[in-house]
Amino acid sequence: MANLSEQEIDLIAQRIVADLTGRGGATGGKPEKASSIPSSTGEIGIFSTIEDAVKAASVAFCQYDQMGLKKRNEIIASIRQSMRQHGEALARMAWEETSLGRFEDKILKNQLVTEKTPGTEDLVPVAITGDNGLMLMELAPYGVIGAITPTTNPTSTIINNTIGMLAAGNSIVFNVHPNAKRCSCYNVAIINKAIVAAGGPRNLITCVSNPTVESAQALMKHPAVRLVVVTGGGGVVHAAMSSGKRAICAGPGNPPTVVDETADIDKAARDIVFGASFDNNIICADEKECLAVSSIADKLIKAMTYNGALLVTKEQLPALEKVVFKKMYGPRQEADIDRSLIGKNASIILQKAGIRCDDSVRLGIVEVDHDHPLLWTEQMMPIFPITRVRDADEGIDFALQLEHPRRHSVSMHSDNLSNLSRMARECDASIYVKNGPMLAGLGYGGEGYTSFTIASPTGEGMTSAKSFSRWRRCTLVGAFRIV
Ligand code: NAD
Repeated sequence: MANLSEQEIDLIAQRIVADLTGRGGATGGKPEKASSIPSSTGEIGIFSTIEDAVKAASVAFCQYDQMGLKKRNEIIASIRQSMRQHGEALARMAWEETSLGRFEDKILKNQLVTEKTPGTEDLVPVAITGDNGLMLMELAPYGVIGAITPTTNPTSTIINNTIGMLAAGNSIVFNVHPNAKRCSCYNVAIINKAIVAAGGPRNLITCVSNPTVESAQALMKHPAVRLVVVTGGGGVVHAAMSSGKRAICAGPGNPPTVVDETADIDKAARDIVFGASFDNNIICADEKECLAVSSIADKLIKAMTYNGALLVTKEQLPALEKVVFKKMYGPRQEADIDRSLIGKNASIILQKAGIRCDDSVRLGIVEVDHDHPLLWTEQMMPIFPITRVRDADEGIDFALQLEHPRRHSVSMHSDNLSNLSRMARECDASIYVKNGPMLAGLGYGGEGYTSFTIASPTGEGMTSAKSFSRWRRCTLVGAFRIV
């Protein structure tokens, strides 16, 4: 599928603005770049400066705060309906703008967040009664949230954050990833349209049309922003934690999967190839490396090759290393990856290393020793290292080291209850999947809600509306106990 040209993307952005503002900007003249959409189009949530974006979101919050829960629910229903309608177009825009991942998988990610992000039902109050009367605790909004979003899941994160944060009663200012600003601004614009259509305030979610790291930092420090929520790598997590604000931080992972000798090996192979190749491995929670008990390692590798993986040989590994890494720092160290290969199809990366294959290959797999940087580095590419371990105990201990430990996500394929339990306890991760692809932990093919902001450094884990709320207590002394 051909990439859209710059001009075509600009025309799309121009059409969106024209459609949403009724200005008919698409007729004649030079196409208006998404990055130069003026602040006067504030009704759709896109502003030139952080100051204007925060101001507009502050006004919108005051209006939203006066609307009841019924209106909140109607607004969220309208957003879900709009995202059902536009999810595929958003996936295409994200894929074409960022060149990361797989278009068809991005559609599934948008569907997942649209359907499985919890709404206001997540805000469960607590009531305690006794001889002294009644204590009621409820979850209240913070006000304006500053949210920083990644390039790897640009639209899915915006949809997911929006539903959760609005369900909690907040307004939002997004500083989106500069490399995904067109699809992200478009996403913000059409969500605003859905909010207004449901009778909600304008600019309930806003963003800047030309986001930068500096504008992200200005947003984090803005006095009107009460809560900072960041989704990205180590740099943005560090910046948020140093902002002096309450911060919810979703950072990098390097999820290991351990397969022991009691597992259903064919199923484990299918699950791992599916999970590790989904959207070309750019989801932070995708499997990033496998630790296979020696007695079943050959069988597992063979089964993976029957399910869309291509085995890179020992002789081919040095060429692959040269392609994937710009610089290596020795045994057990994270290497510098070639960022231009993040999220590319396996066939593109393998062919660059001189390995013949076609595009039906979903995942390149390679056996490595324990020291190899492929195991220790978060590649975010469909190149998947496998290493042998003596037994499940060694696998669990080593998985813990490979995870750094970021306490993000881990998985295990096993039928042995004590191995499964030990993995759960030792790895202490936000997400732990037993006998399924890691995606099941995001609610895709597994039970439970979804989140694309998995906050391990600050402890919220799978964030949802209640994470974006603050507890308030009201005590009534001596009354309202009804028994
Ligand atoms: P990134 O860190 O390059 O960018 C994320 C966002 O942070 C962008 O909007 C960027 O402009 C901003 N940013 C970066 N450095 C900053 C700084 N010093 N100050 C202020 N803002 C800054 O990440 P990315 O490439 O977009 O995403 C991939 C990374 O994010 C991976 O490490 C992945 O594991 C992680 N991630 C984690 C989760 C999660 O839920 N835990 C979800 C998605 C991605």
